[in-house]
Amino acid sequence: MKLTDIKKVLEEAFEKNEKLEEKYNICDGEKENIKSFFFPQTEKYLEFKRTDKGTEFFPVNNGLVNDSDGTGSDETDGAKEKINVVVRAKPCSVEALEVFDYVFLSEPVDPLYKEKREKTIIISSSCRELKNSCFCTSVGIDPYKPVGGDVRIDDSTGGVVGVTPKGKDFLEEIFEADESKKSEIQKLEVDQESDLEKGNVKTSTEREAEKDLANRLKDKLDNMQDSKLWDELSLRCLGCGVCTYYCPSCHCFDVCDYYKKDTGSRYRAWDSCMFSEFTSMAGGHNPRPTKKDRIKNRFYHKFNYLPKLYEKLGCVGCGKCLVHCPVGISPLTLLREMGEIEDEDKSISTS
Ligand code: SF4
Ligand code: SF4
Repeated sequence: MKLTDIKKVLEEAFEKNEKLEEKYNICDGEKENIKSFFFPQTEKYLEFKRTDKGTEFFPVNNGLVNDSDGTGSDETDGAKEKINVVVRAKPCSVEALEVFDYVFLSEPVDPLYKEKREKTIIISSSCRELKNSCFCTSVGIDPYKPVGGDVRIDDSTGGVVGVTPKGKDFLEEIFEADESKKSEIQKLEVDQESDLEKGNVKTSTEREAEKDLANRLKDKLDNMQDSKLWDELSLRCLGCGVCTYYCPSCHCFDVCDYYKKDTGSRYRAWDSCMFSEFTSMAGGHNPRPTKKDRIKNRFYHKFNYLPKLYEKLGCVGCGKCLVHCPVGISPLTLLREMGEIEDEDKSISTS
């Protein structure tokens, strides 16, 4: 099995042609949370000025806003004008991006997201580093099968193919810069069957038994609004929101204005449905006033509401939330416990 080191391939091509270096910025999809490229933690999108005639608004020339000093400065990190090339985007990350596309590219289209999405090339690949915390197979994802993306790598054949026009043009640019790369990485086709489907890799018996578990259970949630399961989860949950910040498919945000005298800026920033203020309305009403309401909503959103809206789960089984949750709350354990519930409710451990 040949693993294509696409990052190295691109870096070598960039060395031979500095115009590529100036045009593209290589981002590591294995090390970084892909959502940050399209949905930064904080993002300025409007400036305003109060005048005698009223308030004037000015759209910001958008990029990756570097506001780490908290001053509201719109300095960028130099990547603003470049096209981001996200290499080795694993199946779970690409599936999570589809949730973002659904949310931000459906009408009304979000222009900030759209601009960044269009200025990004995704190179998708399989995942060869299944951790104990991963449960992508339980949400219907084959980790050995690259999905989506503008360019796709098949690690079992070493083949690299352009999928979208953007991806094909990008590969052509690389081959123009370094002809040797053409024979090194390009294949006319990638293998349509993954190593898992071909039986080249084995998953554990447990993973096999739990394959696609979430899709099998999603309708069961229709009748679980009053389950004791939510009481027990809410007793353990601290409401810290860490799970939502690490989650590659969580996309809630808040909008804040900062102003000094007559000028100001409008930002959006990551928010979390696990915070009590998240659903607070003007006038004081809060439709999800308790931790139980909030944690129930989080799981319903991922495993029931989103599948009903666009036939895809809102969880990609990456396990990041359970790794970082201070009390170890795990969506997979929740699914297992849901599976065991028959007619009567039962207690759960969810850890
Ligand atoms: S496993 Fe957790 S972090 Fe990963 S997609 Fe599902 S809910 Fe989000
Ligand atoms: S990380 Fe864990 S404790 Fe914190 S809000 Fe999420 S589920 Fe609750």
